[in-house]
Amino acid sequence: MASSASIEPDLDFIAQINSDSGLNLKKCYQCATCSVVCTLSQDDQPFPRKEMLYASWGLKDRLIANPNIWLCYNCGDCSALCPRDARPGDVLNTLRKMSIKEYSKPAAMHQLFNDSRKLPWLFIIPALIITIVGLGTGLMNLSPGNGRIVFAHFFPVLLIEMIFIPLSLVTGLVFFLGVRRFLKDMQATSAQGKAVSGPIDFKRFLITIITQLPAIIRHEGFSSCSENKRKISHMMVAFSFVSLAFVAGAFVFALYVLNSHAPYDQINPVKILANISGIALIAGSLLLIKERRAKAGQINGYFDWYLLGLALFLGITGMLTQILRLANLPWAAYSMYFIHLLFTFNLVAFLPYTKLAHLVYRTVAIAFYHYSKEKK
Ligand code: SF4
Ligand code: SF4
Repeated sequence: MASSASIEPDLDFIAQINSDSGLNLKKCYQCATCSVVCTLSQDDQPFPRKEMLYASWGLKDRLIANPNIWLCYNCGDCSALCPRDARPGDVLNTLRKMSIKEYSKPAAMHQLFNDSRKLPWLFIIPALIITIVGLGTGLMNLSPGNGRIVFAHFFPVLLIEMIFIPLSLVTGLVFFLGVRRFLKDMQATSAQGKAVSGPIDFKRFLITIITQLPAIIRHEGFSSCSENKRKISHMMVAFSFVSLAFVAGAFVFALYVLNSHAPYDQINPVKILANISGIALIAGSLLLIKERRAKAGQINGYFDWYLLGLALFLGITGMLTQILRLANLPWAAYSMYFIHLLFTFNLVAFLPYTKLAHLVYRTVAIAFYHYSKEKK
């Protein structure tokens, strides 16, 4: 007996994709050219034709928790060759943004990253928090000191810890809750296709993450698409963030375990690593901006530009802070350090709501995709 299925399109979801990607999903006539040209598309789960169909039908549940949308690295091959200019690569990019919005709560936070008019608030809020906590606790020191520029004199380490440790914990919690829901939804979506049934075996899932990490670190996904030239620049930015996190950890270790205080010599190996990372962050961000601007037809929204701007200005303000200190310009150096702290606050506190959250969600989705394949 023939079976039938009814679907309930989410019309708001369709309208949202159309408005966010600046496109019209109705343009797609399902020729499948996109799935054929995509070198990352998998034989067992080809994309993005199927996702274009789901999107035009408004099947939000099948897309928001669909690991396939995270296998795409937005190279643009499919968009360039789509005979209807439906821009499937940009649609998948929009779906990833919507997925981040769905899982990183509270949803109200995302309004700050979808509207460029709210940009000033991303700096006013941290400026107020740092100033109020600093002056309220009496830890922030506005006296010029003894002439030697020491940032810990202006913003003691305890003040930085009082602000950034709770922020990091909240960010970790938002990710933990988001990833937990994301995994649950991916499992439910896959179970409809009989890919994964039963509860997730977390030990096995963790092993899958570890086995996938080398390919993710090597940026293998970027190498596969002919249109994608972003591998080197993306690596520069990604590795800079990782090595700067290591540098911060090393300085904390030096302070509390070795009782060694900043500023450190320029020939200190960790300081050398920090400087190389800072320069790589600026150069990588500039290259990514240049490549995005050069990509004819690619749709870049505020969500994309915010992250590139954040990476660039984190690097610039960090390097300028050091240059002004070496030039012995106390107030210019302290002011620049304050501005650098505002960008750092943006990075830490808003991480789950910005495009940088893709680091977490993409890793989990790729691992889930391989985990579900093994379980079949
Ligand atoms: S997005 Fe374009 S290439 Fe892909 S199925 Fe639709 S019309 Fe064809
Ligand atoms: S943008 Fe590139 S990776 Fe993404 S679906 Fe299209 S061809 Fe594949």
